[in-house]
Amino acid sequence: MPRIYSWFLALCTLLTALSGCHAPPASTPSSVPYMITVNQAAVRLGMQVSFTNGRYVELTNTSNRVLIFTHPGGNVFVNGKNIGLAGVVQRPGGQIYISELLIPRIRSHLAAYTPQPQPGYTPPVVRPIGRTVVIDAGHGGKDPGATSYLGYYEKEVNLKVAQKIAWRLKNEGVQVILTRNNDTFIELNDRADIANRARADLFVSIHHNSHNSRVHRGYTIYIAPNASDASRRAGRLIERALASTGLSSNGMRTNDFRVLMRTQGPAVLVECGYLSNPSEAAILYDGDFQNQLAGAIAQAILQTL
Ligand SMILES: [Zn+2]
Repeated sequence: MPRIYSWFLALCTLLTALSGCHAPPASTPSSVPYMITVNQAAVRLGMQVSFTNGRYVELTNTSNRVLIFTHPGGNVFVNGKNIGLAGVVQRPGGQIYISELLIPRIRSHLAAYTPQPQPGYTPPVVRPIGRTVVIDAGHGGKDPGATSYLGYYEKEVNLKVAQKIAWRLKNEGVQVILTRNNDTFIELNDRADIANRARADLFVSIHHNSHNSRVHRGYTIYIAPNASDASRRAGRLIERALASTGLSSNGMRTNDFRVLMRTQGPAVLVECGYLSNPSEAAILYDGDFQNQLAGAIAQAILQTL
């Protein structure tokens, strides 16, 4: 299809050149595939046609300015940058038609739309000050959790990641409670009760997964089967944020883990990756990678507060 179209484009350009640039097109635009009016193009780009003359069309929104030069061989400029030829342009009855294929090309150069604050309007400042988050490093002490492919225990990396998350949140003014800050054993009920007593705004339990098969990989987010909307939202935000680490996502699932069932406030359990997978066992033990992981989770937690 693209090849046929490029032949078609070349033919049209040739015909336009042979017949002079102001000659009406051989066929009406409605019968030509891929041709849309500049107004339609503007709508699809979230812009408006702000100026047009015999030489160019200007499309604008609050963040961008696009100039489409309409003469044969004319170029398209996005925010002053030449992004190449406009291609076929037709003007039957004063309407300007351009190729639909310009849309994705222009869009890929547009600056992200940032809404401008209205004069006199002060957006509410949301601060995590006064918010309490409980970070639970899974297992500990006599309960080592899973044993990794490389021999270290799950309880060690759970604690590392939990501490790194806590450090980041504290820096943002969040009150953070770690259910454990060293290699000690804590009952599951006690972990949930720490969050309940503190009336925590969020409880996040950090674990690492394991499977008999080495092929399993990626992170998984768990919420209770009867989870509140707040838990669901937190889970979804963490699930999305962790994609930035490059680990694959196994999505958000429900499970009646005790810490999730017993916690009264929003609660999420994160299985950060598979310690039984040789490559994940290596990367999950790496301090820099743990920083990335903790950074992504902390960022998502801040969004929920
Ligand atoms: Zn675990």
